[in-house]
Amino acid sequence: MDIYRLLPRTNCGECGEKTCMAFASLLLERKKDLDACPPLSEDKYASQREKIAELLAPEIREVVIGEGEKAVKIGGEDVLHRHELTFFNRTALFYDVWDTLPADKLRERVQTITDWRKFYVGKFLRLNGVAIRSVSNDAKKFEECVRIVADETDLPLALCSFSEKVIEAGLSQVSERRPLIYAATERNWFAFVELARRYGVPVALFSPSLDTLASLAVTFANKGVRDLVLDPGTLPTGKGLAETFAKFVKLRRAAISEGKKEVAYPLLSVPLVAWLTHKDPVEASYWEAVIACIFIIKYADIMILHGLEPHSLIVERTLVENIYTDPRKPVSVEPGLRIIGSPNENSPLFVTTNFALTYYTVESDISSSKIDSYLLVIDTGGLGVESAVAGGQLSADAVKDALERFGVEEKVKHKTMVLPGLAARISGETEDKTGWRVLVGPKDSGMIPRWMEKSWPPEWLS
Ligand code: SF4
Repeated sequence: MDIYRLLPRTNCGECGEKTCMAFASLLLERKKDLDACPPLSEDKYASQREKIAELLAPEIREVVIGEGEKAVKIGGEDVLHRHELTFFNRTALFYDVWDTLPADKLRERVQTITDWRKFYVGKFLRLNGVAIRSVSNDAKKFEECVRIVADETDLPLALCSFSEKVIEAGLSQVSERRPLIYAATERNWFAFVELARRYGVPVALFSPSLDTLASLAVTFANKGVRDLVLDPGTLPTGKGLAETFAKFVKLRRAAISEGKKEVAYPLLSVPLVAWLTHKDPVEASYWEAVIACIFIIKYADIMILHGLEPHSLIVERTLVENIYTDPRKPVSVEPGLRIIGSPNENSPLFVTTNFALTYYTVESDISSSKIDSYLLVIDTGGLGVESAVAGGQLSADAVKDALERFGVEEKVKHKTMVLPGLAARISGETEDKTGWRVLVGPKDSGMIPRWMEKSWPPEWLS
């Protein structure tokens, strides 16, 4: 209501919504931007616009790294726990390269980071950025390294050195790409303030002392640099790791529960440190993935990692995807009749729900077994089979409705369907309501090929 009262309240519809009230709700859910209300940009509404922007500002400042389509937004969170609302911006995963790598190896590593992808629940997961580390501490070398990386990738970049000269050499190549500069400390902060102001880039602040970190943040903010990221240091083992975890929780609680604006910025962790204490590469990548998982859950908004082995990348990227889905919206696919392979009128018809994870698992189990078939996807509001049967979303009526709605009878002449094993208890009612014969398939779609050997075609079709 506070936001609604500050809108022009003319219900003019220019925002695409019928009423200002509807627009206010969408603003709150971050589904619309203030710019979508053109009247609000008129001078007479300037102070109201400012007040709405204040009301809408997330508890944790949102910081953008990079430019264009691949830019990543980090922070911007309002809650400590995902189920209290949702998390808005995924933890951004930046993988490192360094300036002592030979040019061909450097290009190869950047390509690996840029091209990596993994198909998961209907889309490709990718990595978010490249962190360029100065190992040589030589400004010229770093500049050349940054030039090569920028040539090879359009991913967002982080420039990593405690030397302002080295960072500035890197910025000379890529400042327009809005890289994160890492990191300002209590020794170099003055020079980093100048760099951030001159080039308009976000800055990471580093200190293992939370008091120093807060005081650095206040100093930067007072000097007009507010796109900040806080790194309290990441220790990779034992008590150090436990203390690191406690610092992340303390910082995020202070920002969200205690309203301490001086630390209300995105947090950065560096699981890469596992490689400093574990010499065996398998052990190092294992511990790096463990540390990454801890801080993906609480509360890193961005992290710098090293290992590019699939067993680390898949774990890290998949966990990000799962933690940062919106609990208000089940992950679902469009209902409908899918064609798998080249089915004909005698091919089997499988039934499943539109919960994305269920759908893609069933679809992949059937298509990878090369079973030419139809797959009827029922709208269960994004629920899996067991929950949808219990809640009534997967019912005889729902199946009947889907058969008619998607014209299944025109394609499948045998009028036989295969219900998931977990929906066995609606099989009788489904036969009665639809007039179709119902076979009960396996509970696990991975068993469909074996089930087919024994149960398809049924005797009335053979
Ligand atoms: S454009 Fe603005 S004034 Fe018009 S209906 Fe939308 S929110 Fe209301």
